[in-house]
Amino acid sequence: MSALAASTGAINLGQGFPDVDGPEAIKRAAMAAIEAGHNQYPPGAGIPALRAAVATHQRRHYRLEVDPETEVLITTGATEALAAAVLALAGPGDEVLTLEPFYDSYAAVIALAGAAHTTAPLVRGPAGFRLDPAALRLAFTDRTRIVLLNSPHNPTGTVLTRAELTLIAQLATAHDAIVITDEVYEHLVYDGAEHIPVATLPGMAARTLTISSVGKSFSFTGWKIGWVAGPAALVEAVRTVKQFLTYVSGAPFQPAVATALTDAAASAWVVDLAASLAGRRDLLCAGLERAGFDVIRPQGTYFVVADGAPLGFDDGAELCRRLPELAGVVGVPVSAFTRAGSAADAALRSAVRFTFVKRESVLREAVIRLAELAAR
Ligand SMILES: *Cc1c(COP(=O)(O)O)cnc(C)c1O
Repeated sequence: MSALAASTGAINLGQGFPDVDGPEAIKRAAMAAIEAGHNQYPPGAGIPALRAAVATHQRRHYRLEVDPETEVLITTGATEALAAAVLALAGPGDEVLTLEPFYDSYAAVIALAGAAHTTAPLVRGPAGFRLDPAALRLAFTDRTRIVLLNSPHNPTGTVLTRAELTLIAQLATAHDAIVITDEVYEHLVYDGAEHIPVATLPGMAARTLTISSVGKSFSFTGWKIGWVAGPAALVEAVRTVKQFLTYVSGAPFQPAVATALTDAAASAWVVDLAASLAGRRDLLCAGLERAGFDVIRPQGTYFVVADGAPLGFDDGAELCRRLPELAGVVGVPVSAFTRAGSAADAALRSAVRFTFVKRESVLREAVIRLAELAAR
């Protein structure tokens, strides 16, 4: 869809990357690190300052205690952390349970591990896309080895509630499954929604690997510095796989990310980013509604899911192929995040994901163009 945007001149609200970079001081810190000679392989687990910064971040935001020496690993973005964790902990005969829709790398990495992918749908209701408790219970089996969560959730923007997380925790414990939780949007929540790391629930820290990265929180998606935190034995297993995926990466970015995670001005920058994104979400949601979409308001992330059925499109992929010509805008069909033939796939057939992590002027122009759809 990004290629389609480029070839048609349409506004790309498909791929979720910011069109404004993160804090200037953090960029300067990366440049200073190159000048200071941080240009060779860093330690395999990540530089000590960054591991300490991740531990400080977890304590300050969630009162989670992790030992920077043994319970934190720096990775090549959240993507590598997810891949290494799934490859380390699941194999043939195991099931990895994800929500559905799911971030696209999950299915690929579960397949690479030779494990089976099972899903529990997020179902649309008055409060947006929510976990279906009965379907979740049914999705667990005695082969469920990993529950791979994502909250705040891409693509739906759902922020899992304490009640939802508690049920997941109970079932994961009953089935002796490990929880891997992708929290890359941890700071991008709106309307007072609270991001609750599953590791903070009673007893869960012992079976949970928490993953996040610098990309979304600080608008440096190209830096690809991520981390995983959890019990030493699980982190050690992830490190063993990571060793032969990339070994290490991002030497000069690591000290800059350590600054980002601990510096008060950088933290304030993230709070401002979330406030600004909430406003941009409102702008895009209102525009999509005026254009005739049925909009499901997200509580977090960069994304909004909008249903094209009221516009007469029952296939979101078809709508996305035609959107550049109809309205000069590009989105991504939600079917890119579902499995063909699943209940979630059927329910989301006409849905399209749009990103609002673009400058307000770009979104204003997109909203004007989208109005063409209503006029059609
Ligand atoms: C963007 C994204 C990632 C990838 O994070 P990186 O740090 O860039 O590797 C992982 N999970 C979700 C849900 C994402 O949206």
